[in-house]
Amino acid sequence: FLSRCAPGSAADAGANRGPLSQEDYLGFYKDKLKRFHHFREAGHDYFGTPIGHQQGSYVQVGDRKMLMMASYSYLGLINRPEVNQAAEEAIQSYGTGAHGVRLLAGTFDAHRELEKEIADFFHADDAIVYSSGFMTNMATVAALVGKGDVVIGDELNHASIVDGCQFSAATFLMFPHNNLQALEAQLKEHSGKRILVIVDAVYSMEGDVAPLPEIVQLCRQYGAMLMVDEAHSLGVIGEYGRGIQEYFNLPDDAIDIKMGTLSKSIASCGGFIAARQEIIDYLKCNARGFIFSASLPAAQVGAARKCFEIIRREKHLAGHLRKLRDQFVNGLRQLGYEVPPTESAVVPIIFPTEQETLEATGYCRDNGLFVVPVFYPAVPMDKPRIRATVTASLTEDDVDAALSVFQALAIARGQSGEKKVTTKD
Ligand code: PMP
Repeated sequence: FLSRCAPGSAADAGANRGPLSQEDYLGFYKDKLKRFHHFREAGHDYFGTPIGHQQGSYVQVGDRKMLMMASYSYLGLINRPEVNQAAEEAIQSYGTGAHGVRLLAGTFDAHRELEKEIADFFHADDAIVYSSGFMTNMATVAALVGKGDVVIGDELNHASIVDGCQFSAATFLMFPHNNLQALEAQLKEHSGKRILVIVDAVYSMEGDVAPLPEIVQLCRQYGAMLMVDEAHSLGVIGEYGRGIQEYFNLPDDAIDIKMGTLSKSIASCGGFIAARQEIIDYLKCNARGFIFSASLPAAQVGAARKCFEIIRREKHLAGHLRKLRDQFVNGLRQLGYEVPPTESAVVPIIFPTEQETLEATGYCRDNGLFVVPVFYPAVPMDKPRIRATVTASLTEDDVDAALSVFQALAIARGQSGEKKVTTKD
Protein backbone atom coordinates (compact mmCIF):
# COMPACT_ATOMS: atom_id res chain seq x y z
CA PHE A 1 0.00 0.00 0.00
CA LEU A 2 2.57 2.57 1.03
CA SER A 3 4.64 2.02 -2.09
CA ARG A 4 1.65 3.28 -4.08
CA CYS A 5 1.53 6.62 -2.25
CA ALA A 6 2.45 9.62 -4.37
CA PRO A 7 5.45 11.84 -3.52
CA GLY A 8 4.54 14.41 -0.90
CA SER A 9 2.01 12.02 0.60
CA ALA A 10 1.51 10.82 4.14
CA ALA A 11 4.02 8.01 3.51
CA ASP A 12 6.81 10.48 2.74
CA ALA A 13 5.87 12.60 5.69
CA GLY A 14 6.12 9.46 7.84
CA ALA A 15 9.57 8.65 6.46
CA ASN A 16 10.83 12.03 7.68
CA ARG A 17 9.20 12.38 11.05
CA GLY A 18 8.38 9.10 12.69
CA PRO A 19 5.15 7.15 12.88
CA LEU A 20 2.17 8.46 10.94
CA SER A 21 -0.94 9.80 12.63
CA GLN A 22 -4.50 9.07 11.56
CA GLU A 23 -4.62 12.66 10.26
CA ASP A 24 -1.71 11.91 7.90
CA TYR A 25 -3.70 9.05 6.40
CA LEU A 26 -6.93 11.06 6.16
CA GLY A 27 -5.03 13.97 4.62
CA PHE A 28 -3.62 11.63 2.00
CA TYR A 29 -7.06 10.30 1.04
CA LYS A 30 -8.55 13.79 1.03
CA ASP A 31 -5.80 14.94 -1.27
CA LYS A 32 -6.73 12.19 -3.72
CA LEU A 33 -10.30 13.52 -3.81
CA LYS A 34 -9.37 17.08 -4.77
CA ARG A 35 -10.60 16.64 -8.33
CA PHE A 36 -14.02 15.36 -7.22
CA HIS A 37 -14.39 18.16 -4.67
CA HIS A 38 -13.52 20.68 -7.34
CA PHE A 39 -16.35 19.38 -9.57
CA ARG A 40 -18.76 19.41 -6.67
CA GLU A 41 -17.83 22.90 -5.50
CA ALA A 42 -18.36 24.17 -9.05
CA GLY A 43 -21.94 22.82 -8.85
CA HIS A 44 -21.29 19.73 -10.96
CA ASP A 45 -22.30 16.87 -8.70
CA TYR A 46 -23.10 14.11 -11.21
CA PHE A 47 -21.41 11.11 -9.66
CA GLY A 48 -23.42 8.63 -7.61
CA THR A 49 -26.73 10.50 -8.00
CA PRO A 50 -29.31 8.60 -5.89
CA ILE A 51 -32.23 7.26 -7.90
CA GLY A 52 -35.54 6.89 -6.06
CA HIS A 53 -37.62 4.78 -8.36
CA GLN A 54 -37.58 3.53 -11.93
CA GLN A 55 -40.38 2.79 -14.32
CA GLY A 56 -39.67 1.84 -17.93
CA SER A 57 -37.12 4.31 -19.24
CA TYR A 58 -37.86 6.95 -16.60
CA VAL A 59 -36.28 7.38 -13.18
CA GLN A 60 -37.22 9.52 -10.20
CA VAL A 61 -34.36 11.71 -8.97
CA GLY A 62 -35.45 13.73 -5.93
CA ASP A 63 -38.74 15.24 -6.99
CA ARG A 64 -37.96 15.04 -10.72
CA LYS A 65 -38.80 12.44 -13.32
CA MET A 66 -35.92 11.99 -15.78
CA LEU A 67 -35.39 10.06 -18.99
CA MET A 68 -32.68 7.50 -18.21
CA MET A 69 -29.95 7.45 -20.84
CA ALA A 70 -27.11 6.02 -18.81
CA SER A 71 -28.51 2.62 -17.84
CA TYR A 72 -26.77 -0.71 -18.43
CA SER A 73 -30.13 -2.45 -18.54
CA TYR A 74 -29.75 -2.50 -22.31
CA LEU A 75 -32.81 -4.59 -23.00
CA GLY A 76 -34.94 -2.64 -20.53
CA LEU A 77 -35.55 -5.73 -18.39
CA ILE A 78 -34.92 -4.00 -15.08
CA ASN A 79 -38.05 -3.74 -12.95
CA ARG A 80 -40.07 -5.85 -15.39
CA PRO A 81 -42.86 -7.45 -13.36
CA GLU A 82 -42.05 -11.00 -14.47
CA VAL A 83 -38.36 -10.57 -13.60
CA ASN A 84 -39.26 -9.16 -10.17
CA GLN A 85 -41.68 -12.02 -9.66
CA ALA A 86 -39.00 -14.59 -10.51
CA ALA A 87 -36.72 -12.98 -7.92
CA GLU A 88 -39.51 -13.05 -5.32
CA GLU A 89 -40.28 -16.71 -6.03
CA ALA A 90 -36.60 -17.60 -5.67
CA ILE A 91 -36.55 -15.85 -2.29
CA GLN A 92 -39.61 -17.84 -1.23
CA SER A 93 -37.78 -21.08 -2.07
CA TYR A 94 -34.26 -20.33 -0.89
CA GLY A 95 -34.34 -17.18 1.27
CA THR A 96 -32.30 -14.02 0.90
CA GLY A 97 -28.76 -15.34 1.33
CA ALA A 98 -26.82 -18.53 0.83
CA HIS A 99 -25.50 -21.04 3.35
CA GLY A 100 -22.00 -20.03 2.43
CA VAL A 101 -19.64 -20.63 -0.46
CA ARG A 102 -20.53 -22.73 -3.51
CA LEU A 103 -18.09 -25.59 -2.82
CA LEU A 104 -19.38 -26.14 0.70
CA ALA A 105 -23.09 -25.56 1.50
CA GLY A 106 -23.87 -22.64 -0.84
CA THR A 107 -24.98 -24.31 -4.09
CA PHE A 108 -28.73 -24.26 -4.80
CA ASP A 109 -30.44 -26.26 -7.56
CA ALA A 110 -31.11 -22.86 -9.08
CA HIS A 111 -27.39 -22.08 -9.39
CA ARG A 112 -26.85 -25.21 -11.43
CA GLU A 113 -29.92 -24.51 -13.56
CA LEU A 114 -28.69 -20.98 -14.28
CA GLU A 115 -25.26 -22.37 -15.21
CA LYS A 116 -26.85 -24.88 -17.58
CA GLU A 117 -28.94 -22.10 -19.13
CA ILE A 118 -25.83 -19.93 -19.66
CA ALA A 119 -23.88 -22.85 -21.16
CA ASP A 120 -26.73 -23.57 -23.54
CA PHE A 121 -27.10 -19.89 -24.48
CA PHE A 122 -23.39 -19.64 -25.35
CA HIS A 123 -23.10 -23.12 -26.91
CA ALA A 124 -20.57 -24.21 -24.30
CA ASP A 125 -20.18 -27.46 -22.31
CA ASP A 126 -20.82 -25.82 -18.95
CA ALA A 127 -20.69 -22.54 -17.03
CA ILE A 128 -19.67 -21.17 -13.62
CA VAL A 129 -21.47 -18.29 -11.94
CA TYR A 130 -19.61 -15.88 -9.63
CA SER A 131 -21.09 -13.29 -7.27
CA SER A 132 -19.87 -10.31 -9.28
CA GLY A 133 -18.75 -9.58 -12.82
CA PHE A 134 -15.63 -7.83 -11.56
CA MET A 135 -14.72 -10.86 -9.47
CA THR A 136 -15.36 -13.16 -12.43
CA ASN A 137 -12.58 -11.52 -14.44
CA MET A 138 -10.20 -11.09 -11.51
CA ALA A 139 -10.50 -14.64 -10.25
CA THR A 140 -10.68 -16.36 -13.64
CA VAL A 141 -7.61 -14.73 -15.17
CA ALA A 142 -5.59 -15.25 -12.00
CA ALA A 143 -6.57 -18.94 -11.96
CA LEU A 144 -5.92 -19.61 -15.65
CA VAL A 145 -2.38 -18.19 -15.85
CA GLY A 146 0.46 -17.77 -13.39
CA LYS A 147 4.21 -17.38 -13.08
CA GLY A 148 5.99 -18.29 -16.33
CA ASP A 149 2.83 -17.78 -18.44
CA VAL A 150 1.94 -14.79 -20.58
CA VAL A 151 -1.31 -12.83 -20.63
CA ILE A 152 -1.96 -10.33 -23.41
CA GLY A 153 -4.82 -7.82 -23.44
CA ASP A 154 -6.14 -4.85 -25.40
CA GLU A 155 -5.17 -1.57 -23.71
CA LEU A 156 -8.86 -0.64 -23.33
CA ASN A 157 -9.84 -3.84 -21.52
CA HIS A 158 -12.02 -3.35 -18.46
CA ALA A 159 -10.33 -2.66 -15.10
CA SER A 160 -11.38 -6.06 -13.74
CA ILE A 161 -9.42 -7.78 -16.52
CA VAL A 162 -6.40 -5.55 -15.97
CA ASP A 163 -6.48 -6.27 -12.22
CA GLY A 164 -6.82 -10.01 -12.89
CA CYS A 165 -3.81 -9.90 -15.23
CA GLN A 166 -1.72 -8.05 -12.65
CA PHE A 167 -2.84 -10.32 -9.84
CA SER A 168 -2.03 -13.47 -11.84
CA ALA A 169 1.79 -13.11 -11.62
CA ALA A 170 1.98 -14.00 -15.35
CA THR A 171 3.94 -11.70 -17.68
CA PHE A 172 1.32 -9.08 -18.55
CA LEU A 173 1.44 -7.36 -21.94
CA MET A 174 -0.96 -4.88 -23.51
CA PHE A 175 -1.36 -3.98 -27.17
CA PRO A 176 -2.71 -0.66 -28.54
CA HIS A 177 -6.49 -0.73 -29.01
CA ASN A 178 -7.49 -3.21 -31.75
CA ASN A 179 -3.93 -3.22 -33.15
CA LEU A 180 -3.58 -6.71 -34.62
CA GLN A 181 0.03 -6.24 -35.79
CA ALA A 182 1.08 -5.42 -32.24
CA LEU A 183 -0.82 -8.43 -30.91
CA GLU A 184 0.83 -10.68 -33.47
CA ALA A 185 4.30 -9.40 -32.58
CA GLN A 186 3.69 -10.20 -28.90
CA LEU A 187 2.30 -13.65 -29.73
CA LYS A 188 5.29 -14.40 -31.97
CA GLU A 189 7.76 -13.34 -29.29
CA HIS A 190 6.23 -15.66 -26.69
CA SER A 191 5.23 -18.55 -28.94
CA GLY A 192 5.71 -21.89 -27.19
CA LYS A 193 4.67 -20.58 -23.79
CA ARG A 194 1.18 -20.79 -22.29
CA ILE A 195 -0.48 -17.59 -23.53
CA LEU A 196 -3.90 -16.19 -22.68
CA VAL A 197 -5.27 -13.41 -24.92
CA ILE A 198 -8.12 -11.35 -23.47
CA VAL A 199 -10.31 -8.77 -25.18
CA ASP A 200 -13.64 -7.10 -24.55
CA ALA A 201 -16.27 -7.96 -27.16
CA VAL A 202 -17.59 -4.39 -26.93
CA TYR A 203 -15.39 -1.71 -25.37
CA SER A 204 -17.36 -0.10 -22.59
CA MET A 205 -16.25 3.51 -23.08
CA GLU A 206 -16.12 3.46 -26.90
CA GLY A 207 -18.93 1.11 -27.89
CA ASP A 208 -16.88 -0.46 -30.70
CA VAL A 209 -16.59 -4.20 -31.37
CA ALA A 210 -13.29 -6.15 -31.22
CA PRO A 211 -12.05 -7.53 -34.59
CA LEU A 212 -12.64 -11.04 -33.34
CA PRO A 213 -12.26 -13.21 -36.46
CA GLU A 214 -8.69 -11.96 -36.91
CA ILE A 215 -7.94 -12.35 -33.19
CA VAL A 216 -9.27 -15.93 -33.24
CA GLN A 217 -7.07 -16.71 -36.24
CA LEU A 218 -3.95 -15.26 -34.53
CA CYS A 219 -4.65 -17.21 -31.34
CA ARG A 220 -4.94 -20.43 -33.33
CA GLN A 221 -1.76 -19.70 -35.29
CA TYR A 222 0.32 -19.01 -32.18
CA GLY A 223 -1.27 -21.55 -29.85
CA ALA A 224 -2.88 -19.06 -27.46
CA MET A 225 -6.14 -19.43 -25.50
CA LEU A 226 -8.73 -16.71 -26.09
CA MET A 227 -11.00 -15.16 -23.46
CA VAL A 228 -13.67 -12.61 -24.42
CA ASP A 229 -15.62 -10.34 -22.05
CA GLU A 230 -19.23 -10.09 -23.27
CA ALA A 231 -20.38 -7.61 -20.59
CA HIS A 232 -21.61 -5.01 -23.10
CA SER A 233 -22.33 -7.32 -26.05
CA LEU A 234 -24.71 -9.82 -24.48
CA GLY A 235 -28.25 -8.89 -25.48
CA VAL A 236 -27.01 -6.15 -27.81
CA ILE A 237 -24.94 -7.39 -30.77
CA GLY A 238 -25.63 -10.37 -33.01
CA GLU A 239 -28.99 -10.68 -34.73
CA TYR A 240 -30.77 -11.93 -31.60
CA GLY A 241 -28.43 -10.41 -29.02
CA ARG A 242 -26.37 -13.58 -28.55
CA GLY A 243 -23.15 -11.59 -28.50
CA ILE A 244 -19.98 -11.48 -30.54
CA GLN A 245 -20.01 -15.06 -31.79
CA GLU A 246 -23.40 -14.48 -33.40
CA TYR A 247 -22.32 -11.03 -34.62
CA PHE A 248 -19.41 -12.50 -36.63
CA ASN A 249 -21.09 -15.85 -37.25
CA LEU A 250 -18.13 -17.68 -35.70
CA PRO A 251 -18.08 -21.42 -34.91
CA ASP A 252 -18.83 -22.53 -31.34
CA ASP A 253 -15.20 -23.29 -30.53
CA ALA A 254 -13.81 -19.92 -31.73
CA ILE A 255 -13.72 -18.44 -28.20
CA ASP A 256 -12.22 -20.65 -25.50
CA ILE A 257 -13.53 -18.69 -22.51
CA LYS A 258 -16.68 -16.58 -22.74
CA MET A 259 -17.10 -14.20 -19.85
CA GLY A 260 -20.22 -12.16 -19.12
CA THR A 261 -21.96 -10.18 -16.41
CA LEU A 262 -25.47 -10.60 -15.03
CA SER A 263 -25.67 -6.87 -14.29
CA LYS A 264 -26.38 -5.30 -17.66
CA SER A 265 -28.75 -6.79 -20.27
CA ILE A 266 -29.43 -9.45 -17.63
CA ALA A 267 -31.20 -7.39 -14.94
CA SER A 268 -29.50 -8.98 -11.95
CA CYS A 269 -25.99 -9.05 -10.51
CA GLY A 270 -23.06 -11.45 -10.76
CA GLY A 271 -20.85 -12.80 -13.53
CA PHE A 272 -20.13 -16.02 -15.38
CA ILE A 273 -17.72 -18.00 -17.53
CA ALA A 274 -18.96 -20.41 -20.21
CA ALA A 275 -16.36 -22.83 -21.56
CA ARG A 276 -15.23 -26.43 -22.08
CA GLN A 277 -16.01 -28.80 -19.21
CA GLU A 278 -12.36 -29.13 -18.15
CA ILE A 279 -12.02 -25.35 -17.78
CA ILE A 280 -15.22 -24.97 -15.76
CA ASP A 281 -14.29 -27.87 -13.46
CA TYR A 282 -10.82 -26.37 -12.99
CA LEU A 283 -12.20 -22.89 -12.18
CA LYS A 284 -14.65 -24.30 -9.65
CA CYS A 285 -11.70 -25.67 -7.69
CA ASN A 286 -9.10 -22.99 -8.39
CA ALA A 287 -10.66 -19.55 -8.86
CA ARG A 288 -10.20 -17.98 -5.44
CA GLY A 289 -12.96 -15.38 -5.86
CA PHE A 290 -15.35 -18.29 -6.47
CA ILE A 291 -14.08 -20.65 -3.80
CA PHE A 292 -13.76 -18.14 -0.97
CA SER A 293 -16.79 -15.90 -1.54
CA ALA A 294 -20.48 -16.44 -0.69
CA SER A 295 -22.59 -17.72 -3.56
CA LEU A 296 -24.91 -15.56 -5.64
CA PRO A 297 -28.14 -14.86 -3.69
CA ALA A 298 -31.28 -16.66 -4.86
CA ALA A 299 -33.13 -13.47 -5.92
CA GLN A 300 -30.26 -12.67 -8.32
CA VAL A 301 -30.28 -16.23 -9.67
CA GLY A 302 -34.05 -16.20 -10.20
CA ALA A 303 -34.00 -12.82 -11.94
CA ALA A 304 -31.08 -13.85 -14.17
CA ARG A 305 -32.79 -17.07 -15.28
CA LYS A 306 -35.94 -15.16 -16.20
CA CYS A 307 -33.94 -12.62 -18.22
CA PHE A 308 -32.29 -15.36 -20.30
CA GLU A 309 -35.75 -16.80 -20.92
CA ILE A 310 -36.99 -13.37 -22.09
CA ILE A 311 -34.03 -12.85 -24.43
CA ARG A 312 -34.74 -16.22 -26.04
CA ARG A 313 -38.45 -15.44 -26.32
CA GLU A 314 -38.46 -11.75 -27.30
CA LYS A 315 -36.11 -11.98 -30.23
CA HIS A 316 -36.96 -8.49 -31.46
CA LEU A 317 -35.44 -6.68 -28.44
CA ALA A 318 -31.84 -6.46 -29.69
CA GLY A 319 -32.90 -5.23 -33.15
CA HIS A 320 -35.24 -2.63 -31.60
CA LEU A 321 -32.41 -1.39 -29.40
CA ARG A 322 -30.03 -1.01 -32.35
CA LYS A 323 -32.66 0.90 -34.34
CA LEU A 324 -33.05 3.39 -31.47
CA ARG A 325 -29.25 3.61 -31.22
CA ASP A 326 -29.01 4.53 -34.92
CA GLN A 327 -31.76 7.12 -34.52
CA PHE A 328 -29.88 8.70 -31.58
CA VAL A 329 -26.40 8.57 -33.14
CA ASN A 330 -27.55 9.95 -36.52
CA GLY A 331 -29.47 12.74 -34.81
CA LEU A 332 -26.47 13.71 -32.66
CA ARG A 333 -24.14 13.78 -35.65
CA GLN A 334 -26.57 15.97 -37.59
CA LEU A 335 -26.40 18.38 -34.69
CA GLY A 336 -22.63 18.56 -35.00
CA TYR A 337 -21.64 16.34 -32.07
CA GLU A 338 -18.55 14.13 -32.27
CA VAL A 339 -19.82 10.57 -31.85
CA PRO A 340 -17.22 7.87 -32.64
CA PRO A 341 -18.40 4.77 -34.52
CA THR A 342 -20.40 2.59 -32.14
CA GLU A 343 -22.00 -0.76 -32.87
CA SER A 344 -23.41 -1.29 -29.39
CA ALA A 345 -25.76 0.46 -26.97
CA VAL A 346 -22.95 2.72 -25.75
CA VAL A 347 -23.00 6.19 -27.34
CA PRO A 348 -19.95 8.35 -26.48
CA ILE A 349 -20.43 12.08 -27.11
CA ILE A 350 -17.00 13.71 -27.08
CA PHE A 351 -16.41 17.29 -25.87
CA PRO A 352 -13.20 19.31 -26.20
CA THR A 353 -12.69 19.83 -22.44
CA GLU A 354 -13.77 18.42 -19.08
CA GLN A 355 -15.39 21.76 -18.25
CA GLU A 356 -17.53 21.66 -21.41
CA THR A 357 -18.46 18.06 -20.68
CA LEU A 358 -19.58 19.03 -17.19
CA GLU A 359 -21.59 21.97 -18.48
CA ALA A 360 -23.24 19.82 -21.13
CA THR A 361 -24.10 17.17 -18.52
CA GLY A 362 -25.60 19.89 -16.30
CA TYR A 363 -27.66 21.19 -19.21
CA CYS A 364 -29.00 17.70 -19.97
CA ARG A 365 -29.79 17.01 -16.31
CA ASP A 366 -31.54 20.39 -15.93
CA ASN A 367 -33.67 19.45 -18.92
CA GLY A 368 -34.69 16.02 -17.65
CA LEU A 369 -32.06 13.78 -19.28
CA PHE A 370 -30.09 11.48 -17.00
CA VAL A 371 -26.64 11.21 -18.62
CA VAL A 372 -23.19 10.83 -17.07
CA PRO A 373 -19.78 12.42 -17.77
CA VAL A 374 -16.69 10.22 -18.06
CA PHE A 375 -13.14 11.50 -17.66
CA TYR A 376 -9.54 10.32 -17.48
CA PRO A 377 -8.42 7.74 -16.37
CA ALA A 378 -11.55 5.90 -17.61
CA VAL A 379 -10.99 7.50 -21.05
CA PRO A 380 -8.00 9.32 -22.64
CA MET A 381 -7.26 12.74 -21.13
CA ASP A 382 -8.10 14.57 -24.38
CA LYS A 383 -11.38 12.69 -24.96
CA PRO A 384 -13.74 13.60 -22.09
CA ARG A 385 -17.29 12.62 -22.90
CA ILE A 386 -20.87 12.18 -22.00
CA ARG A 387 -21.31 8.44 -22.15
CA ALA A 388 -24.93 7.91 -23.05
CA THR A 389 -26.60 4.54 -23.47
CA VAL A 390 -29.68 3.49 -25.37
CA THR A 391 -32.00 0.82 -24.00
CA ALA A 392 -34.83 -1.17 -25.53
CA SER A 393 -37.33 0.33 -23.10
CA LEU A 394 -37.01 3.71 -24.85
CA THR A 395 -39.44 4.66 -27.62
CA GLU A 396 -38.67 6.62 -30.78
CA ASP A 397 -40.42 9.57 -29.14
CA ASP A 398 -38.13 9.28 -26.10
CA VAL A 399 -35.09 9.41 -28.39
CA ASP A 400 -36.54 12.42 -30.19
CA ALA A 401 -37.11 14.11 -26.83
CA ALA A 402 -33.48 13.46 -25.91
CA LEU A 403 -32.33 14.84 -29.27
CA SER A 404 -34.37 18.00 -28.69
CA VAL A 405 -32.37 18.61 -25.51
CA PHE A 406 -29.11 18.04 -27.39
CA GLN A 407 -30.36 20.33 -30.16
CA ALA A 408 -31.00 23.18 -27.71
CA LEU A 409 -27.57 22.53 -26.18
CA ALA A 410 -25.93 22.59 -29.62
CA ILE A 411 -27.52 25.98 -30.32
CA ALA A 412 -26.47 27.30 -26.91
CA ARG A 413 -22.92 26.10 -27.59
CA GLY A 414 -22.97 27.75 -31.00
CA GLN A 415 -22.01 24.45 -32.60
CA SER A 416 -24.90 24.27 -35.02
CA GLY A 417 -27.67 26.52 -36.26
CA GLU A 418 -31.36 25.73 -36.28
CA LYS A 419 -30.67 22.41 -37.96
CA LYS A 420 -33.85 20.41 -38.29
CA VAL A 421 -33.66 17.08 -36.47
CA THR A 422 -35.04 14.42 -38.76
CA THR A 423 -34.64 11.24 -36.83
CA LYS A 424 -37.35 8.71 -37.61
CA ASP A 425 -37.18 6.39 -40.60
N1 PMP B 1 -16.43 -6.29 -17.67
C1 PMP B 1 -16.78 -5.14 -18.26
C2 PMP B 1 -16.40 -4.92 -19.70
C3 PMP B 1 -17.51 -4.17 -17.55
O1 PMP B 1 -17.86 -3.03 -18.14
C4 PMP B 1 -17.84 -4.42 -16.19
C5 PMP B 1 -18.61 -3.43 -15.35
N2 PMP B 1 -19.18 -2.37 -15.93
C6 PMP B 1 -17.43 -5.61 -15.62
C7 PMP B 1 -16.72 -6.52 -16.39
C8 PMP B 1 -17.74 -5.91 -14.19
O2 PMP B 1 -19.06 -6.34 -14.09
P1 PMP B 1 -19.99 -6.10 -12.81
O3 PMP B 1 -20.35 -4.64 -12.80
O4 PMP B 1 -21.16 -6.98 -13.10
O5 PMP B 1 -19.22 -6.50 -11.61
